[in-house]
Amino acid sequence: LTVGVAMETAPGERRVAMVPQVVGRLVGSGLDVLVETGAGRGAWFPDGAYAEAGATVVARLDLFARADVVVSVSLPDPRTRALLRGGQTLVGLLAPLPRPQVMAQLAEAGVTAVSLDGLPRTLSRAQSMDALTSQANVAGYKAVLVAADAYPRYFPLLMTAAGTARPAEVLVLGAGVAGLAAIGTAHRLGAVVRGYDVRPEARGEVTSLGASFLDLGGPDLGGVAGGAGQGGYARALTAEELAGQQEALAAAVARHDVVITTAQVPGRRPPLLVTEEAVKTMRPGSVVVDLAASPLGGNVEISAPDETVVTAGGVTVIGAGNLPALMPAAASAAYARNVAALLGHLVHDGALTIDTADEIQAGVVITHAGRVVHPATAALLT
Ligand code: NAD
Repeated sequence: LTVGVAMETAPGERRVAMVPQVVGRLVGSGLDVLVETGAGRGAWFPDGAYAEAGATVVARLDLFARADVVVSVSLPDPRTRALLRGGQTLVGLLAPLPRPQVMAQLAEAGVTAVSLDGLPRTLSRAQSMDALTSQANVAGYKAVLVAADAYPRYFPLLMTAAGTARPAEVLVLGAGVAGLAAIGTAHRLGAVVRGYDVRPEARGEVTSLGASFLDLGGPDLGGVAGGAGQGGYARALTAEELAGQQEALAAAVARHDVVITTAQVPGRRPPLLVTEEAVKTMRPGSVVVDLAASPLGGNVEISAPDETVVTAGGVTVIGAGNLPALMPAAASAAYARNVAALLGHLVHDGALTIDTADEIQAGVVITHAGRVVHPATAALLT
């Protein structure tokens, strides 16, 4: 079986789906690996390192002609997708739900599309394949560095002959994978950190990282009762709950120097947690980083992806874009291990075996044998 590592096509994407160290493991397990010329350059993995690990470095057309399985990070652009042929498999973080039509086109072309974002994440045997988690960890870490870079003061308490600097007060809203990574990073930088989430189990996770849990004090005071939804995720709040939460959070936001937001609800627009009014109450020099910034809106009313605004009140509001792409070597290494684990699950005796009766495959296989087989994606097409 031949695995082809394609160069990413999304603007600003510096990650690569496979790194030389993991290529060595794939080759050792009997797979042939082709790498597109320059595919790893953006992540600082030169062609020569792939060749040394046992891959063959080839031009793009050659790769698409010869590979049985093409691995990528994000969905390749239309010109690149046109190079895929029937019987070939595409593995990546394809985000099928926002683009069911593209999945239908892949099905029509006879391509088997396998998307890591559909992985059943709570299955312990799927954890090594969990690319959403590995990339969210990178994003949470990087969000703190981005915030610290924009913040005009120190994060740690510093006592010097020129006086004492008080530590920055950092608030992290949403304590899932990215939020916990942000909390741990801000704590290691010496900030005083508070974390908040609507899922009750987040409290213990926040405090175990050395942060305190921001208590909104029960439903009457803006706290949310029973915020857990299905599959370990949060549920969507009612309009009333969300309004109470925004009001209670506004008071907390005003007391912090740095606010990092990471809240998501599956299949919904990210909840609006920090209103424009709340940002106005922050001190000049404060920084807000919205990891949930999206074209539909994010956790912060005035954020937009890949945009930084400085308000009239002197608050820097940073809408995060693709933060894992800003740490491409680490993000690619983790992603490559996820992909290798998934291939280990799909490949038997040198052949790719598609079986949607398998719980993991039922989540990740989007198209196969000319059809969109993933129920949630198929439902969007009818
Ligand atoms: P996510 O990206 O969907 O959301 C991020 C966080 O935002 C979540 O913690 C969520 O509770 C929180 N949130 C949503 N609405 C909110 C609101 N109105 N106010 C405050 N916070 C809000 O979640 P995620 O990071 O992908 O993971 C969520 C949970 O699933 C975590 O507990 C994580 O540990 C768990 N998880 C488990 C496994 C596993 O068991 N292997 C794998 C991955 C994730």
